[in-house]
Order: sequence, then structure tokens, then C-alpha cells
Amino acid sequence: MSLEQFKNRNIGTQNYVALDVGKPPKSGLCQFKQVVKRTFKGELFVGLWVTMKAMLKALFGGDMHTIQYPFEKLPISPRYRAIHDMLRLLESGNYRCIGCGLCEKICISNCISMDTRYDENQRKEVSEYTINFGRCIFCGYCAEVCPELAIVHGPRYENASEQRAGYSLFEDMLTPIDKLNLQQEYDGFGAVSPNADENIKKTPLAY
Ligand code: SF4
Ligand code: SF4
Repeated sequence: MSLEQFKNRNIGTQNYVALDVGKPPKSGLCQFKQVVKRTFKGELFVGLWVTMKAMLKALFGGDMHTIQYPFEKLPISPRYRAIHDMLRLLESGNYRCIGCGLCEKICISNCISMDTRYDENQRKEVSEYTINFGRCIFCGYCAEVCPELAIVHGPRYENASEQRAGYSLFEDMLTPIDKLNLQQEYDGFGAVSPNADENIKKTPLAY
């Protein structure tokens, strides 16, 4: 659509009411005069009455359009990309993260920092993992690229903190071990397969 067509498009004018608000004041004196005129014509009180009516309806008529945050919260979409969660393996409770570093490499804000080491069994483990949520733009690339579905976006969106360093630790994002049964699972690579219970005794590679 060209600009001209856009300007002339049919926007259904029958539902619009054109208000005659007069010419806009050009100088400071004209503005002052307009304020005085409107006030003493009672327009100020009309506005106050409209506000008062809305307030009375909200308080006594149950017509409330706001919520009492933080005591009440609006539901968020299941696909909302909020603060990250680090998941555990349901079977063992171990970290699902294998320390591959893909999330750190793909992060376009360069806010993931991690390090790995070998444990006593010469297996690689994550020794340090932080996300600087002051820089994170919640693009979701880290969750998309993770081959183990170890890092996902959870439903927590209140990440205010007095200390920058206080809300970026691996332990804060990790599913608490006593709440493992409440861990939300997502579809995708690394997710628990529907027949995991049948496969669990056979070989770990089967699920
Ligand atoms: S959501 Fe995006 S910006 Fe935030 S840590 Fe993941 S990749 Fe980086
Ligand atoms: S991509 Fe996943 S498995 Fe790899 S280091 Fe990041 S969180 Fe861990």
C-alpha cells in the first residue's frame, strides 16, 4: 500500500466523533487564558467528576480495572521468556547441564559466563555458571541452542535486586533438589521421552 493509499484508507469513520477543540494556543499567554477559561467554565470539575465516578464504580461497584500487585498477579503466557531455570535430571537429580558452552557462545549480549573442570571421576562438570540479568535481553537463544534442555526460560519475571551480583548465580536458577518433582518439563531435545519409564532400566542412552 502506498503512502497516499494509506492516508486515504477506509477507517470506518462512522464510529468516530470529531470533537471541536478549537485552535491550539500559540503563545504562553494564550495557553494561560485557555486554562483559566476551561477552569471557570467548569471543565476541570467535569474531569474530576468523571474520575470520581470511575473511582466509586471501582471501589463499590466491583468494576476494578487494576490489580493489587504484588499480592495479585496477572497470568503470563506459557511461552513467556522470563528468568532462566537450570534443570536437573529427574532420575538422578544431577545437573542436566553438560558444560558444552554453546549457550555461552551464542549469547548475543555476552552475559553468560561459565567454567568447567574435571571431577574426581574425570567427568566434566560445571564449576561456575552465571548470567548477568542486567545485560540479558531474554532473546531465548541460549535455551534454543542447549542440547540437553538444561537451560530454559521459567515463569519468574521479578528479577529486581539491590545487588547486581545477587541474581545471576547458577544455584539461584537451579531446581531445588527437594522440589524436583515440581520441575516443569518442556518438549525438545533433552526432554524426557514419553517412554522414559520403560527405558530407564535398559540403558541411559535410550532416553
Ligand atoms: S536469553 Fe539471550 S541474552 Fe539472555 S542469556 Fe540467553 S542468549 Fe544471552
Ligand atoms: S548449552 Fe546447555 S548443556 Fe551446554 S553449557 Fe549451556 S546450559 Fe549447559
